[in-house]
Amino acid sequence: MTESIIYKNLLAGAEQQGDDNKDYKEAYLGDHLRFKMKREGKRFWAGDNISEYLHEGDIEKLIDEATPAFEQVLDSLLIDRENDPNSKGTARRLAKMYFNEIMAGRYEPGPDATAFPNDSADRYEGMLVVRSELRSMCSHHHQPVSGVAYIGIIAANKLIGLSKYTRIAQWCARRGTLQEELCNDIAREISKATESENVAVYVQAVHGCCENRGIMAHSSLTQTTVLRGTFKDDPHTKKEFFDNIKLQQEFAPR
Ligand SMILES: [Zn+2]
Repeated sequence: MTESIIYKNLLAGAEQQGDDNKDYKEAYLGDHLRFKMKREGKRFWAGDNISEYLHEGDIEKLIDEATPAFEQVLDSLLIDRENDPNSKGTARRLAKMYFNEIMAGRYEPGPDATAFPNDSADRYEGMLVVRSELRSMCSHHHQPVSGVAYIGIIAANKLIGLSKYTRIAQWCARRGTLQEELCNDIAREISKATESENVAVYVQAVHGCCENRGIMAHSSLTQTTVLRGTFKDDPHTKKEFFDNIKLQQEFAPR
């Protein structure tokens, strides 16, 4: 039975049984979660966070379910995972790596960014620029994306710890993304955590899908910028942001 036929049957079953859908829960957890998200209209694209659907212990179960699926991929690639010592545990390594590392930002809730009030008489009202190293993965080819995000904000009523900027950026990056989407995601999450509408994000990254395959580029660099609030409306603020980036790059060239 193909996946879509199973899904249709389940949909029909769910309609008969109401919301409980008990039979389904006993099947694969991954199927159950996918079905639930479809039913509730929850988007679960490669760049989406689905942590609200997961409970303790679920990741281990999902890794167990993904292992035979990766074994099947290796078999389809005609790789002898019984005799090749290097390929023996690869399926499980891949499953663990996807859930715990390269796509961890899909399954983990956002980093908790305690905010400190910035409302005293001598409050900081200037620009803050944080450089965050990023590791991500393109959702088209599952190839590595590596680069740097420069996050700029004009301090509002709340300040978050400096490391939180990077934790938030990394949480957004640890998914299957497009750089354009990633840039937007970081800006939105930083804006949420700091309650500042004046946020800018500049990302520069190299893409494995352009370096390891396809055009086999050696020094291609992709740059994306998202400007919000005064960064967008005020040319001086925008210039200060990019001047700061230049200073940062002099301080630590990539
Ligand atoms: Zn790609």
